[in-house]
Amino acid sequence: MNHKILIIGAGPAGLTAAWEAEKLGIKTLVLEGDKEVGGISRTVERNGWRFDIGGHRFFTKVDEVYKIWDEILGSDDFLLRPRMSRIYYKQKFYDYPLKASNALFNLGIFEAIRCVLSYFYVRIRPPKNQDNFENWVAARFGWRLYNIFFKTYTEKVWGVDATKIGSDWASQRIKNLSLMKAILNAFQINKSGEIITTLIDKFKYPKYGPGMMWETAYKKLLDKGHEIKLNKRIVEISKEDDHYLVTTKDGEQFKADNILSSMPLAHLPKTIKPSPSKEVLNSGENLKFRDFLSVALVINEEDAFPDNWIYIHEPGVKVGRVQNYGSWSPFMVKEGKTCLGLEYFVNIGDELWSMEDEKLIALATHELEKLSLIKKDSSLEGYVVRMPKAYPVYDLNYSKNIENIADWLSKEHKGIHPIGRNGMHRYNNQDHSMMTAVKSVRNIVLNEVNDIWKINVEEDYHEEISTGRSAPVQKD
Ligand SMILES: Cc1cc2nc3c(=O)[nH]c(=O)nc-3n(C[C@H](O)[C@H](O)[C@H](O)COP(=O)(O)OP(=O)(O)OC[C@H]3O[C@@H](n4cnc5c(N)ncnc54)[C@H](O)[C@@H]3O)c2cc1C
Repeated sequence: MNHKILIIGAGPAGLTAAWEAEKLGIKTLVLEGDKEVGGISRTVERNGWRFDIGGHRFFTKVDEVYKIWDEILGSDDFLLRPRMSRIYYKQKFYDYPLKASNALFNLGIFEAIRCVLSYFYVRIRPPKNQDNFENWVAARFGWRLYNIFFKTYTEKVWGVDATKIGSDWASQRIKNLSLMKAILNAFQINKSGEIITTLIDKFKYPKYGPGMMWETAYKKLLDKGHEIKLNKRIVEISKEDDHYLVTTKDGEQFKADNILSSMPLAHLPKTIKPSPSKEVLNSGENLKFRDFLSVALVINEEDAFPDNWIYIHEPGVKVGRVQNYGSWSPFMVKEGKTCLGLEYFVNIGDELWSMEDEKLIALATHELEKLSLIKKDSSLEGYVVRMPKAYPVYDLNYSKNIENIADWLSKEHKGIHPIGRNGMHRYNNQDHSMMTAVKSVRNIVLNEVNDIWKINVEEDYHEEISTGRSAPVQKD
């Protein structure tokens, strides 16, 4: 049988593609390499404790995305949750998004003055080469603020010196914000003098974690007649006369006219036959990833702290962020206890990645106690989850590598449509992944001509200032 649409991956992008195809009257075949759906947005369950691969806010400025989430999950299961997050640095908590009064108080008057002077210094003498993250941010915030709020965390996330990270990543996350604009935002005044609405004070979240959204989508799609096969890792895609032949690791083969691929873009050059030029193959090899592991600790305390998550800018510990799943949803935890998720940014094979689970749990417990985020001996049990390829790396050459692969696909493989996060090597949230899927399906079925590579690049979010990770930032 020749499928009109075959989808690789049952994460948010793949399942949304099937959801959109259903609306347009097409039944799809979805092939997922793992034994479960949801991709990075899954919820892991261990011994009755549920936790995310990093906390997942359901937040978007794209109404269409909210519509899809609401179609999948009824309002009883899709909670509106209060948000609180802070930065921990030198034993102090800074509100996040940053607030001028709180930052000033914590930094102390002398450090605050130094920060402002350092800002004026870069206004007069901006760093010459602003192609890298460090100089780009320092030019907009001054060196002192850069060192306090950006450097440590960014280097923890990416595992390299901030001068090796492209400025694209900063500009995507921080847009045109500068210290002056941040101060105005901190007082909640935008250009037109209006108070910024507090859209970011709340967010939607499935009662039992993000996985619930995608597990529900999976079940509903099966009910509607889509085929979704798990444990089907794609290892080869070959172009036959007028269709593609897709081969899975266990040797099964499927025919399709169009393939929506959320498998890593980096893997397409070596997966598709006939093989592309050496240059395109090299581009695939040179797209890099940062991997991730989370240690979930069950804590014998009602809530440990009120935040949903805390960014750890403290240089003396390895943990980058701590999630509090009881704050995300009370349904994620059990009476009188909470579950904290310590996030470590790693590379496959490095010391932390290879460490035995027991040692990781001991390290995580020790670090939480050192940071005084939990009382001594209140950690009861722990679980480790490793997630390869959690972050597509934006190094100095990544965009050229993407361009080479995208060019080759558009010329030689018009039936293969990259969608989603790793699928397009874009450091983006679920909403972006979903929209690339929706628009690609419309391109195929309705002959629309949406440029998938332009989606979300210009979208802005009601967030004030990002120090790195997933929180998008407000455009001025
Ligand atoms: C720590 C962290 C926190 C995050 N927080 C948020 C947040 O707060 N809000 C938010 O909206 N987003 C957040 N995100 C981003 C979100 O996880 C992703 O945007 C989203 O999961 C991407 O969906 P996707 O379908 O494109 O990719 P994925 O989720 O990666 O799914 C891809 C699927 O394809 C499968 N696959 C890969 N290769 C193959 C193959 N060869 N054959 C078959 N199947 C294959 C994978 O197994 C996977 O299931 C966060 C991400 C991380 C890492």
